[in-house]
Amino acid sequence: MTKYIFVTGGVTSSLGKGIIAASLAKLLQGHGFKVTIQKFDPYINVDPGTLNPYEHGECYVTDDGAETDLDLGHYERFLNTPTSQENNVTTGRIYQTVINKERAGEFLGKTVQVIPHITDEIKRRMTLLGGKNYDIIITELGGTVGDIESLPYLEALRQLRMELGDHNYCTVHLTLIPYLAAAKELKTKPTQHSVKELQESGVQPDILVCRTEKPITDEIRQKLALFCNLSKDNVIEAIDADTIYEVPILMLKEKLDQRVIKQLKLKSKSAPELKAWREFLKNLRHPIYEVNIGLIGKYNELPDAYKSIYEAFVHSGAANMCKVKVIAIHSESLEDPEKLNQALKGLNGILVAPGFGERGIEGKIEAIRYARENQIPFLGICLGMQCAVVEFARNVLGMKKAASTEVDPKTKFPVIHMMTEQRNIKEKGGTMRLGAYECKLSKTSKAHQAYKSTLISERHRHRYEFNNQYLAEFEEKGMWASGKNPEKNLVEIMELKGHPWFVGVQFHPELKSTVETPHPLFVSFVGSCIRNKKI
Ligand code: GLN
Repeated sequence: MTKYIFVTGGVTSSLGKGIIAASLAKLLQGHGFKVTIQKFDPYINVDPGTLNPYEHGECYVTDDGAETDLDLGHYERFLNTPTSQENNVTTGRIYQTVINKERAGEFLGKTVQVIPHITDEIKRRMTLLGGKNYDIIITELGGTVGDIESLPYLEALRQLRMELGDHNYCTVHLTLIPYLAAAKELKTKPTQHSVKELQESGVQPDILVCRTEKPITDEIRQKLALFCNLSKDNVIEAIDADTIYEVPILMLKEKLDQRVIKQLKLKSKSAPELKAWREFLKNLRHPIYEVNIGLIGKYNELPDAYKSIYEAFVHSGAANMCKVKVIAIHSESLEDPEKLNQALKGLNGILVAPGFGERGIEGKIEAIRYARENQIPFLGICLGMQCAVVEFARNVLGMKKAASTEVDPKTKFPVIHMMTEQRNIKEKGGTMRLGAYECKLSKTSKAHQAYKSTLISERHRHRYEFNNQYLAEFEEKGMWASGKNPEKNLVEIMELKGHPWFVGVQFHPELKSTVETPHPLFVSFVGSCIRNKKI
């Protein structure tokens, strides 16, 4: 029977529930169990696809085209296995299903209520991935205990414990133990309150994971155990780490895996297999090279907006024994040529980020021109690739004011235009070209050198594409389509001849980079930044 672990959070948000869930999953995977992680988000949006990065950070896209929470990215990066639409559920999706059933007459004669109808749907979704595919399912509950919108989820947890039985169910509650500098003390009261709040909903945590900046003493563990109604061994310290990838090791030292294994009555090896993980950490800690890579985007004050890109650099840096310093540069600041020179001159590589809308576009185009003219390794992702095409059209092909029709619908040179199947779509949610598509690579390309394969599959999230009408003109002058979608002949990769490394991709390689399988394009890009280092 599949075992279920639920991870809740208390005291504040941003404690790193996703990382704790992923770290625990990694340890259990290392013990030989088949594990997956899912996230339940209490907000009303059906998915985060329509939320802007200020609200919600990056939107993570799965192979099956689901637009999901960025924590799913952590799950994939840690576990090295793909997630899907089933792994991310919101209140909006729960209600949508229940309301559709009501309209179809499935509850005929009954009043439809939060309990049992909404909670039944929550439970159905929470156990959907159970059965033969997984030994253990970890569910992260978004939000913080005490939020009004979390209540139906906690009620579902209360019911599930009864239905599944104590040894098939485990709740891990993550809280904060703040340190008061003036009193020179760690404080347990907020945790006591948050556990009380959980208990009021009928949920008793089995394990308490305490996020803290200072080690917690035995006395504190004892006190928490007493007040929170659990065994002292089940009070786990989660001290701040310098990298999220250290957290599985910290959790191992604290025996979080053993506590869970005991609660769930699982049979396991004495220690999890973490060879590849430790190898990665060793490389991360002992780089022999260092490069500066500019990340040109428009949400630079918000690292979460480009989460997967930052992480892909961590993986590909370690694979190259290289410390990659990612320097976030606001594209709008590059519209002034003097500022542009100042900002870009110390860089060993330039990445132009994905994005939507016209803000910051001209700065992105100028950064690409700089990379092209100065032979600086360049990776353009999605909008970044589209900007590379526009730059080349304007500055090499002499197509004045060439543009993407997303930015200038009336341009004389629509080198990037809306995809045919997108033209009649009015709704915004879940309607882009989403998910994994195949791409065929030319054998002579940089992409092929990186992937060492002619057929790849990568994830997409866009409405616009390269306008094939212009391809011959581009190729004649040295910008060529090195990867195409075999079914529709869409241009997926553009490369530049006579440049050390200049690759624009219509897809999102960052979404598939994991600790154990760093993305080949990022690995190759960082490699070329090292080789071409002039400063
Ligand atoms: N806005 C562009 C499009 O829709 C690029 C999208 C992206 O960068 N993800 O095609």
